[in-house]
Amino acid sequence: MSRRIAKRVEEIKPSGIRKFFDLISGREDVISLGVGEPDFPVPWRIREEMIYSLEKGYTAYTSNVGLPELRKGIAEYYKRFGVDAEPSQVIVTSGVSEAFDLAVRAILDPGDVVVIPEPSYVSYRPLSYICGGEVVSIPTIPDFKLTYERISEVSQFKPKVLILNYPNNPTGITYSKKELEEVADAVIEHDMIVISDEIYCELTYSGKHVSIASLNGMEDRVIILNGFSKSFAMTGLRVGYAIAPPDIFEGMLKIHQYSMLCAPTTSQIGAIEALKSLEDIEKMKAEYLRRRNYVIKVLDEYFEVPKPEGAFYVFPKFFLDMSSEDFVEKLLIEKGVAVVHGNAFGECGEGYIRISYAVKFEKLKEAIERIVDFVKKYGKS
Ligand code: PLP
Repeated sequence: MSRRIAKRVEEIKPSGIRKFFDLISGREDVISLGVGEPDFPVPWRIREEMIYSLEKGYTAYTSNVGLPELRKGIAEYYKRFGVDAEPSQVIVTSGVSEAFDLAVRAILDPGDVVVIPEPSYVSYRPLSYICGGEVVSIPTIPDFKLTYERISEVSQFKPKVLILNYPNNPTGITYSKKELEEVADAVIEHDMIVISDEIYCELTYSGKHVSIASLNGMEDRVIILNGFSKSFAMTGLRVGYAIAPPDIFEGMLKIHQYSMLCAPTTSQIGAIEALKSLEDIEKMKAEYLRRRNYVIKVLDEYFEVPKPEGAFYVFPKFFLDMSSEDFVEKLLIEKGVAVVHGNAFGECGEGYIRISYAVKFEKLKEAIERIVDFVKKYGKS
């Protein structure tokens, strides 16, 4: 047997973030601003509902598509973003991660072109590539936004899919309705499908989140991805969803029913409870906002800091004579602070670092002070 691992799998690189997890494992002194995971526990009412369901013995599979009450709740929830979807378009998944995987597997044939604005969340490129997609990236520095022109520049590659993520990981930027209308114009003109990862939609600090699916002419072109990991701090419970046009929904369901069967039952029950009140989110959001304001205020003197309008990340540009990877490694070794090198999110992220402020305020403050000491030592430009 000459080849045991599929060529495309062999070709993809392991996640740059994983590498960094390995580097800090076991080091108690390190303050990690590297992980994109809420530092809050799952709201108690959600945990209670899940515990109660276990006591009652609700541990069987659900239907492949998810619990009817949850699908209804999700369709209802998206009405607040102007999307009028039927519960029958909702597929409940094991996180947005599975929903993304289903989406690309359902729509890509080998050789189809996928456009990814970069810097971008680390999973999009490898998962698109594994299922035969050819990735074309659009570097979006320094403002991190897609525009009509930027999309039109890649239209020569006849792209089939555009991946959008806002509020964005790693930059924290988001889009206004007007900016999204411009993106939508290009999408329609070049006949593309959008995969819109809106997992941070509840953590929008300026204005209100607008789903691109709510814009004229987009209803049949957008696969919305969302979930409970970030807004309800439910990362380990693995529950998310996609809302898709009916034909794409059918394609995704075919894969999901063979590969996953259903999302975890206990977590789906928790998700039903989660959607009953958005109050917990408001409390967490207020704390994230306080931290964001602190971080950008302090770092502004030493970095170029694009103001994040959502999520819980800052993506500052540094002015030291070293690469992003060197910055991250030296900072970790010398100051015991872990951040992620910007180029883990695409080549154009070189010269940047990603800081996650999903960390308790006191720890965050200590870590930011250590970062400031570090840049002072190596020279403020
Ligand atoms: N999408 C983005 C943009 C993310 O940042 C993350 C996690 O960091 C995910 C998806 C994964 O979400 P889930 O936990 O629902 O699989």
